[in-house]
Amino acid sequence: MFEIKELNAGYEFRNRFVHAVRNVSLTVEEGDFYGIAGESGCGKSTLVLAALKLLKKPGKILSGQVLLDGVDVLSLPDETLRKIRWKRLSLVTQSSMNSLNPVKRIKDQMADVLIRNHGFSKSDAYNLVKEKLQLVGITADRMESYPHQLSGGMRQRVVIAMALLLSPSVVVMDEPTTALDVVVQRSILQQIEELRKKENFSTIFITHDISLLFELASKISIMYAGELVEIGLARDVYTRPMHPYTKGLIEALPSISKDLDSYKSIPGRPVDLAIPIQGCPFKERCPYAFERCAVEKPQMRYIELDGNGRWVSCHLY
Ligand code: SF4
Ligand code: MG
Repeated sequence: MFEIKELNAGYEFRNRFVHAVRNVSLTVEEGDFYGIAGESGCGKSTLVLAALKLLKKPGKILSGQVLLDGVDVLSLPDETLRKIRWKRLSLVTQSSMNSLNPVKRIKDQMADVLIRNHGFSKSDAYNLVKEKLQLVGITADRMESYPHQLSGGMRQRVVIAMALLLSPSVVVMDEPTTALDVVVQRSILQQIEELRKKENFSTIFITHDISLLFELASKISIMYAGELVEIGLARDVYTRPMHPYTKGLIEALPSISKDLDSYKSIPGRPVDLAIPIQGCPFKERCPYAFERCAVEKPQMRYIELDGNGRWVSCHLY
């Protein structure tokens, strides 16, 4: 239902191009909780912004398609896209909660969208606002509040309720809880998962914290240096990671059964996306690298594993 095809995007400066999204393809099916993980700066947010045609200058989409039920979102006029954005496709980001208007009551800023862009009457709009806020655990009396009267966690719940106002089929969440403390994060994530089942939308969930995905996601993609390097079912990837970068991410996860000194962080730094990459982008940090990795870029390959498929881009396979 939502498909990104060979998307290339980045940032154009006078004398260099930061190629932040490199030939990314992925397919989200109805009901999927699709996770995308990778360290900060790997291009996750650029991917999301490009895919929703929200990338601002100097951002630029070079090529690719983004299909929502077969229609290429990138080729739609902005006006059509604005309508679709709430109805079919919506976005929650880490900073969404700070973009609430400080001088407007919660109920009015939520209702505004409905009244202005979707022809709702005031009372219908308020009713819907109330209903969606209840879904995220915010009671009707809070509708009268101004943003500063709510905690960070509540503000982010408001933003999530806002994204769900018109029952979109795909909700994209880019680090939606990263700014919040761990306990609040956890409860919001559980709520998102319940909501997803109740409201029946697909989620694309972007995070630098892969551990969140193993709990929640059905499918995951691992992103490194602007590319997807591994795609599979979340629990399969967790129990049997194939790409050396994915292995590194999982080895770095804290767990109660691990000694402190058995944590391994991945050595080295992320690559500079403004410089052309020779061979495998992960080669400098990869404990398995061999000669071929320096000269030949690995391609995504499909690997059949116990009845389920996995896509991996690594010369080891
Ligand atoms: Fe490591 Fe080579 Fe595989 Fe890249 S292609 S991840 S360097 S083994
Ligand atoms: Mg980001």
